[in-house]
Amino acid sequence: MKLVILKCYMPLKIDYLVVGSGLTGGTIARLLHESGREVVILEKRNHIGGNVYDHFHPSGIRIHTYGPHYFRTNSEKLWNFVNRFSSFYKYEPSLKSFVDGNFENWPVTGSYIKKTVGINWKPSFYGLPANFEEASLKIMPEEIYLKFVKGYTEKQWGVNAKELSAELVKRFDVREDDEPRLMRHKYQGIPSNGYAEFTRNLVEGIPVLLNVNYLTNKDMFDVKKKLIYTGPVDEFYNFQYGKLEYRGQKREHTYFEDINYYQPCGQVNYPMPEHGKHIRALEWKHMILKEFSDKIKGTVITKEIPFTPQNTDEYEYPFPSERNKLLYKKYEAKAREDTKLLICGRLGEYKYYDMDQAIARAMELSNEIIENEYAAEENYSTSLYS
Ligand SMILES: Cc1cc2nc3c(=O)[nH]c(=O)nc-3n(C[C@H](O)[C@H](O)[C@H](O)COP(=O)(O)OP(=O)(O)OC[C@H]3O[C@@H](n4cnc5c(N)ncnc54)[C@H](O)[C@@H]3O)c2cc1C
Repeated sequence: MKLVILKCYMPLKIDYLVVGSGLTGGTIARLLHESGREVVILEKRNHIGGNVYDHFHPSGIRIHTYGPHYFRTNSEKLWNFVNRFSSFYKYEPSLKSFVDGNFENWPVTGSYIKKTVGINWKPSFYGLPANFEEASLKIMPEEIYLKFVKGYTEKQWGVNAKELSAELVKRFDVREDDEPRLMRHKYQGIPSNGYAEFTRNLVEGIPVLLNVNYLTNKDMFDVKKKLIYTGPVDEFYNFQYGKLEYRGQKREHTYFEDINYYQPCGQVNYPMPEHGKHIRALEWKHMILKEFSDKIKGTVITKEIPFTPQNTDEYEYPFPSERNKLLYKKYEAKAREDTKLLICGRLGEYKYYDMDQAIARAMELSNEIIENEYAAEENYSTSLYS
């Protein structure tokens, strides 16, 4: 009702309008608000938090709605910042891959390589890799690539590994030691009462309008200083130059009432095509504190099945290709022409950001906004007296 009233009379005048209540929009809004700026957040979903949102399954198990989120950072500054909005319990994920009928550590450990291919393995590709397959064969034994990486990658992206960019290999880690933890960051954890509460605290005190799509309600807002938009950049421009490609994942949840634990850890990867279309299975009970999980009957398993979404709400991973890189550059150049507009975040910058990177980027952008405003005010006041 409130929104209809706004529409009938006059647009809402606001200095800073932040579109999107994910970590990027939430952090920018928080920092602008704390520096005394007038900010309103718009969110087209019916909840705050964007992609990190979580909810409860009827069994009492907390599920990360849009896929598992493991927070990690080496930065004390970021760790202190996120701890202002929630305490975190320690969670250092150790993953497995289901290969040859066994749950093997992922990333592959030094002792597995020693056992299967020996220590004197030779790369099967030398030179400058032109694609993902060549880049992988340069850094890992072919047997490891075929069992653990090729199938997973091809399911994830929906194309042959030879069609993918060599740069993707940077996300793979081939270990010489037997460290089972996925990440070795100084700080790792999950917010004590979940990400939904964490992000609600992040925007505490800032007006948030839920269920409002900015793109279909632009005339409701009169933005005085800056529009900060964290949705998909191509959609902002009505796909004028073409659509950027993404991969998304369908999530199939199954509740096993009479099973306490289904798999050995929170995340098991399924790289072999014969094991199905899903790339991983998540068991959320492993990701919560034992004092809570012990009281829960049964367990929930979520299978993630990659697909190519058309609906922008389902966009997850930017598709790594030259075409998309060039297309994004065109949108980026267009956005730069408008000094009252900032398009940012994982969807706005068409970039995979881990949570800590998204927050760090949002902090950097907020500082730029504030500094540019001070500089503009100073120029104005010196021109008055010159
Ligand atoms: C499957 C998956 C798993 C991940 N796991 C991890 C992990 O384990 N660890 C880690 O560090 N990072 C992880 N990430 C990355 C993490 O999700 C991002 O860093 C984070 O979501 C970035 O936040 P954002 O605000 O930029 O984007 P988002 O969270 O997507 O927020 C954008 C918001 O804008 C809203 N919006 C869009 N268009 C409009 C519009 N027109 N009007 C109003 N609102 C709009 C959207 O509804 C959304 O709420 C994962 C990402 C994915 C895809």
